[in-house]
Amino acid sequence: AFKYYGEWFGAYPYDNVTVIDPAWQSSSGGMEYPTLFTSGTRWLAPTTTNGPEQVTVHEAGHQFFYGVIGNNEVEHAWLDEGLNTFATARTVDQYFPHYWERRFFGSFVPWTFTDISWSRALDGSRLARCRTTARMDIQATPTFQYWPGSMFSTAYYKTTLWLHTLERFLGWDTLQQGMSDYYTRWIFAHPEPQDFFDSINTAAGENLAWFFDQVHGDSAVFDYGIAQVTNQDAAGKGFFRDVFTNNESPVMFETMVVVRRYGDGTFPVDVVVEFADGRRELRPWDGRAQWTTFKFEHSARAISAIVDPERVLMLDINYTNNSWTSSPRATTAATKWTLAWIVWLQDLLLTSAFIV
Ligand SMILES: [Zn+2]
Repeated sequence: AFKYYGEWFGAYPYDNVTVIDPAWQSSSGGMEYPTLFTSGTRWLAPTTTNGPEQVTVHEAGHQFFYGVIGNNEVEHAWLDEGLNTFATARTVDQYFPHYWERRFFGSFVPWTFTDISWSRALDGSRLARCRTTARMDIQATPTFQYWPGSMFSTAYYKTTLWLHTLERFLGWDTLQQGMSDYYTRWIFAHPEPQDFFDSINTAAGENLAWFFDQVHGDSAVFDYGIAQVTNQDAAGKGFFRDVFTNNESPVMFETMVVVRRYGDGTFPVDVVVEFADGRRELRPWDGRAQWTTFKFEHSARAISAIVDPERVLMLDINYTNNSWTSSPRATTAATKWTLAWIVWLQDLLLTSAFIV
């Protein structure tokens, strides 16, 4: 944590730090204090998962965002918790091998799913959790006035998602420069949210108020999707068909791709359409209108369309509607659901057999 935070944002200004592993069942977990923090190990912590590394990195990271940068945690918790959760996920992703883990028998016995990797983008920012609380609070509301159930997702994870969006939109070098400028400028001082935005704007060389106003000053929800794709035989269409076309004329298709903005948040997105002959077309869209149509005339049908293919907009709360394919994947989905239900049925029968 000290290595990466130090390289990315600025040096840790003290000579020492004390790490305490609280006693088993002491009801203490990870918590930050200046030059000291508690972590939290447990019995049976497999090296293939990120506990206790993740909480250790997080509390160590608070030495920077909270310890050295003294923002008002009561009113703007996102400035320390959000920036730190973003940097925690980024650090864990650099360093530790990690897989999905579940714990059984009162969290005592861990099981590692070695075929499911922990994902910085999705698990590190708890996208699933942010999805359900997306409209509950405006981030700019004083943190102590948040709906209690949305505090973590609004202060910690929503910030992680919008910083990750900026990382992909501006590039890491630019975002890192902005965050480093903020750290250097406000060391041992008390910045406000606008001070952070100013540092990012300076690094980006543009005013990103349109973005900050939506993610911080509003509870805008982002969701883009492909609404419709149609392929029409353009060669065989219209009044002049009988006169000018015959069987040898080249086949032409008119493809219409309708892209919709389902949320109230706006963000520029790319739309990529692939055709049966392998041709690939990219069209940028400013994402402002409720919907837009892209028209293509080509000798092959469109077989797939996707909006935001690089997943720049990490805040998009429903990525499953972002793509369309001409050949349905119903068999794969049906097999997956059937297998899941068979396992449940088997469990049910075994349980009833045990009782009877
Ligand atoms: Zn924290």
